[in-house]
Amino acid sequence: PHAYAALKHAQETGVNQTVQYHEKLTEQIRHRTLIEVYLRSALKENQLSLQYQPQYELQTGALRGFEALMRWNHPDLGCIPPSDFIPVAEETRLILPIGQWALRQACETLQRLAPSPSTLTISVNISGIQLLDEQFPTQVSNALTASGLHAERLELELTESSLLDTLDIAERQLKSLQSLGVRLALDDFGRGFSSMNYLRKLPFHLIKIDKSFIHDIGNATEHEVTGSMIQFIKQMKYGIVAEGLETYEQLTYLRKLHCDFAQGYLFGKPLQDNQLSTLINPV
Ligand code: C2E
Ligand code: MG
Ligand code: MG
Ligand code: MG
Repeated sequence: PHAYAALKHAQETGVNQTVQYHEKLTEQIRHRTLIEVYLRSALKENQLSLQYQPQYELQTGALRGFEALMRWNHPDLGCIPPSDFIPVAEETRLILPIGQWALRQACETLQRLAPSPSTLTISVNISGIQLLDEQFPTQVSNALTASGLHAERLELELTESSLLDTLDIAERQLKSLQSLGVRLALDDFGRGFSSMNYLRKLPFHLIKIDKSFIHDIGNATEHEVTGSMIQFIKQMKYGIVAEGLETYEQLTYLRKLHCDFAQGYLFGKPLQDNQLSTLINPV
């Protein structure tokens, strides 16, 4: 039934050790083509959904909000992870309609479950293709109007790699978004090699430290790198979110360094929208 999972397993383990390179390549192309073909109808067939991972304020323990993460459940292929379909969506530009759907869905869900005066936030991942789309700031503004969500409660997450190629346009777009009043977060910080000199020119409010650096906490030789990184970001007056928080040791360390917010399996996995109300309205 779950052809995709089987295909993936075969790919990863190698059906047998003698599989030829070109056969693997053919398999990969077939697999990618399959994703592309099915992705074209995923949106209108209602196969896409969002899950929401809670983020907490580290000093007080209060819920800050959620990051929306896309999920694709195909009737034959099963669940396909974003790391497999987002790149295909970007190459085919299907990320434009899909990303717009996610933005609207995320704003509507938060406003429905936590209407004002709640100040809980919703973070939405934005691909570079979307950022460079001329219509994007208008789409964001429309999503806010349609949902009634206050601009300050929407956070857009961008990665370094989505900004690098076309810095001029990216900068202009980020400034229009800033003027709408939404928050801007730089995702996966530390994974790329951008110079802080140019990142500082961009109007980001927050920096999300890549989970690989969080996982280094507890590693005797590496944790100081994470510590220095946090101090450095704080000195530049950015808010900091740690992602991929899994252990109490990491939590203690992040609190000691006054990291602002964190999300990760220690606090909770991404949840369906119907599971959020107990977090939003604790008894
Ligand atoms: P990301 O934005 O950096 O999201 C964080 C990823 O870490 C998510 O993976 C999340 O499920 C996972 N995660 C959360 N807590 C933990 C933890 O404690 N340990 C570990 N090991 N992982 C944790 P996910 O959901 O598979 O998403 C992967 C990536 O796909 C995202 O990375 C983001 O770059 C992209 N993505 C997801 N949804 C969207 C979307 O709606 N639009 C766009 N453009 N990209 C998306
Ligand atoms: Mg993210
Ligand atoms: Mg990230
Ligand atoms: Mg990422």
